[in-house]
Amino acid sequence: MAKIGINIATGSLQKAEMIVGIDLGTTNSLVAIIHPETKQPVALKEHDSSSLVPSVVHFDVFGNPEVGQGAKRYLESDPANTIFSAKRLMGKSYKDVSQSAGYFTYKVIDDNTDALVKVQVGSSFYSPTDLSSFILAELKKRAEHILKTPVTKAVITVPAYFNDAQRQATRDAGKLAGLDVLRIVNEPTAASLAYGLGLEKEGETTIAVYDLGGGTFDISILKITDGVFDVLSTNGDTYLGGDDIDRAIIDYWLAQKSIDIKVLQKSPNLLQTIRLSAEEAKKALSSSDQFETTIDGQVYQITKSVFEGLIDSIIGKTIDCCKNALADAKLNAGQIDSIVMVGGSTRIPAVKAAVASFFGKPVNDSINPDEVVALGAAVQADILAGNNKDFLLLDITPLSLGIETMGGLMEVLVPRNSKVPTQVGRQYTTHVDGQSSMRVSVYQGERDLVKDNRKLAEFNLTGIPGMPAGLPKVDIQFLLNADGILVVKAKELRSGVEQIIEVKPALDLTDDQVEKMLQDSIENAAADMVLRALVEARTEGEQLLAVTEKFMVKHQSLLTPDEVTQTALALQALQLAITMEDKNLIQTKIEALNETTRPFAERAMDEAVKGALKGKSI
Ligand code: ADP
Ligand code: MG
Repeated sequence: MAKIGINIATGSLQKAEMIVGIDLGTTNSLVAIIHPETKQPVALKEHDSSSLVPSVVHFDVFGNPEVGQGAKRYLESDPANTIFSAKRLMGKSYKDVSQSAGYFTYKVIDDNTDALVKVQVGSSFYSPTDLSSFILAELKKRAEHILKTPVTKAVITVPAYFNDAQRQATRDAGKLAGLDVLRIVNEPTAASLAYGLGLEKEGETTIAVYDLGGGTFDISILKITDGVFDVLSTNGDTYLGGDDIDRAIIDYWLAQKSIDIKVLQKSPNLLQTIRLSAEEAKKALSSSDQFETTIDGQVYQITKSVFEGLIDSIIGKTIDCCKNALADAKLNAGQIDSIVMVGGSTRIPAVKAAVASFFGKPVNDSINPDEVVALGAAVQADILAGNNKDFLLLDITPLSLGIETMGGLMEVLVPRNSKVPTQVGRQYTTHVDGQSSMRVSVYQGERDLVKDNRKLAEFNLTGIPGMPAGLPKVDIQFLLNADGILVVKAKELRSGVEQIIEVKPALDLTDDQVEKMLQDSIENAAADMVLRALVEARTEGEQLLAVTEKFMVKHQSLLTPDEVTQTALALQALQLAITMEDKNLIQTKIEALNETTRPFAERAMDEAVKGALKGKSI
């Protein structure tokens, strides 16, 4: 166990090293640091340009990614190769996002509905983690260019409602971009820290963080007790934000000019210009009473009072969410001590006024709302760097703890730098019919393959009653207590068979050994992640082969001879692809097999086969 204030688990911070704070946003991302002289948080920017980097990745014809303002230009003109809002896909399965499939203008792969989503651009497949890593790599590059020093350590923020998988996907994106992610921090927590809320070591205060960004609205109610943050409730709308406000202006203009949106969609460049002008109008109206511009020889104008009428219902929806959040936290508006405004869209005076009136007190809006999260992340980074010596000396885990999953991959249950005590659980299943035991191997370390990590323990959960693959539900719990003892419990939930072991994770490791393991993981990050992606693709491919073969045996009568031949060919192609080193090839063949079998898979709704696709196997 290590103390944060002393060594951040590695001791390496004794050199003056910059830890940056990163807001990885749905619409915009940015980096902030604590200025070494003024000791104040500042957002990094190049000369007179903006600190905000649009969270957009465009791939050119060679598949090279470009991130930021340059990529944003292609949103309308090259939608299939321009990825926006990748954050919405982090840690999600296709099933999770299928309802909003129409929102994405690029290709989100719909195959095995329980598998994590992938995005296809040309012949390449990208996970949301890959896409976020491109954004983070760009931010890292910018920060290094501005600071004239290597940047390798970061604190990254995520929404308070992000689950384990989404947080892990964010960590992985950082790692892939060559960043050691010291901590994942909740966005509302970071925003509060930027205002200095929660920096007092004693006392209790309740805060509402109202975050209206480009495409999402979040309201979080936080309680801070002696410097420790607790999320009481979160609410919001994942499809409500500045984009909707822009759309309201566009609709208003189109109605004024009697232009049909369908006609306009045929000229993407004009639509793009009108969209950008709408955003410009919205921003202008935050500080002036009217806006006018000329597009294609036509004058487009809008007044502030018209604008406020247009967005009244949008604001109303956010206030309804605030009411729900308060109800969930069992508080009334008067019990909120401070309100923090976050997100570019809170620059709109009508938004501020509505929020202040709802809570019955003035809001905190003195800090740039689209920088405040990154600034707070920088404050957190500074605390982690030990520069704020007397703050929060909590026990943390120096290295990640996890188990081995299929293909020899490390699946992290307790990420390093987690506060202790902690408890984390996840569910797994079998991948062979009638499997009666499951091996649970516990590892410590930061590498993607367990063979490069440190094995702590291994045991067999035996006595699982015979069931088809995918049906058993094995719940694995990691309980790490304050003395650093790890208790691992494995329980098959349908039958109740259970096994428990105790391990002592890190006690016999020196700081130097920990440091070496971290160094290795950073040096090998890119290669490790490539290998992980390959192993994951192979596992997915093998599972699909098994399920399809089983299906064929059972349901051959449903198929026409031609379907049988086509499926056999697709199976063969996938089998061959799995033996090669190209994950994109494997994904392509998985897609092809799915395409071939989809029509008749739909004909036979076989629960056991569907069940076999659920859950990961160890
Ligand atoms: P996210 O957290 O989703 O990445 P941001 O906090 O960066 O998003 O907010 C981006 C949104 O803020 C965009 O819709 C942008 O148009 C809007 N915005 C930025 N400045 C203003 C302004 N002055 N008035 C109104 N909206 C603004
Ligand atoms: Mg944001």
